[in-house]
Amino acid sequence: MTHTDLECVACPRLAAHLADLRRRETDWHNRPVPSFGPLAARLLVVGLGPGEKGANRTGRPFTGDVAGELLYPALYHFGFASAAEPLDGDKSANPRMRLMDARITNAVRCLPPANKPTSAEIRACNLHLRREIAAMPRLAAILALGGVAHQSVLRALCLSPAQYPFGHNLRYDLPAPLPILFTSYHCSGYNWRTGRLSRESFERVFAALRKEVPLAAEEN
Ligand code: SF4
Repeated sequence: MTHTDLECVACPRLAAHLADLRRRETDWHNRPVPSFGPLAARLLVVGLGPGEKGANRTGRPFTGDVAGELLYPALYHFGFASAAEPLDGDKSANPRMRLMDARITNAVRCLPPANKPTSAEIRACNLHLRREIAAMPRLAAILALGGVAHQSVLRALCLSPAQYPFGHNLRYDLPAPLPILFTSYHCSGYNWRTGRLSRESFERVFAALRKEVPLAAEEN
């Protein structure tokens, strides 16, 4: 399986929460959110999980709420996206929007109540992340957004978090042939509002990343 199983119910608490939402919000996605972007991409961006009225509603990671308001413009600015706005209007996908050499996924693919998945749920969904990484033949860099994503990436790669502590704008050269790991504070509304993460600081992460994943025209 190279994409999220939309019927995965491995986490009973999350599955029950989504079943309840499907009854109440009939036009929302309310299922595991599949990754977005080509599997042939060299960059994989890993977030925490879908927001209730964001990706859980739209079905596309980091769309529909404030979480994408830093991410997609940064992807666009650094040439990883064809447009800065991933949605057309409130919900439907922007037909002009595609990711170029980048893919976006989450450590936990079902909406966690209060944005807080349990350790068991994070561990269960690591299977999907591991398969995702294994299915990307050209993967050169992973950007982990936040501590949970960072630890999930390390777990998926069978590496110890103690050896690679989380911090903002770090770069880890993992043992070959693994991709380079970049880290950033999560681009959540909370981090943005509280000043923990600014647009400038977030874009510095992408500038560092772009040096390792050059535009196709810059290669050689
Ligand atoms: S969080 Fe992941 S493992 Fe758990 S039910 Fe959703 S898709 Fe399955």
